[in-house]
Amino acid sequence: MVTHPPRKGHIPWEISQESDELRRAGLKVTLPRLKILRILAGRDREHLCAEQVYQRLHDQGEDIGLATVYRVLTQFAEVGIVMRHHFDGDRAVFELNSGIQHDHLVCVECGRVEEFKDRVIQQRQADVAAVAGYELLSHSLILYGRCPACTQSPKRPDWLV
Ligand SMILES: [Zn+2]
Ligand SMILES: [Zn+2]
Repeated sequence: MVTHPPRKGHIPWEISQESDELRRAGLKVTLPRLKILRILAGRDREHLCAEQVYQRLHDQGEDIGLATVYRVLTQFAEVGIVMRHHFDGDRAVFELNSGIQHDHLVCVECGRVEEFKDRVIQQRQADVAAVAGYELLSHSLILYGRCPACTQSPKRPDWLV
């Protein structure tokens, strides 16, 4: 994938980038879609639930309802612009689909999500699928634990007491 350095203060360029991405995915370019795509494409490439996307929009003074945010995120997932994960129960979190296979570490205490790539694990998963005669399409590995910040705090989960 070729990435171009963003031109500072050149808003139209960014808008056309995102518009192109929507059109490539077969979606009509609408303002809510552009705004939501921009939040997911932020520098940190975060994993956000619909409520968090809604809150960010709200903080930016955007008047886009939660129902619209849900609908747009679902459309994005359907066309493959974003990936949807369920790290804790029913709540879905979304991240921009970078096309790069990776797995996740999730902190059970603060909800922090980190990505990792491990070639040995990826190869093992490919081997397991191959041995079983599967064409591997995707995989999802989630490691649950306590992040460094939560490990250092005195709070302990109930089951440890
Ligand atoms: Zn944590
Ligand atoms: Zn991720």
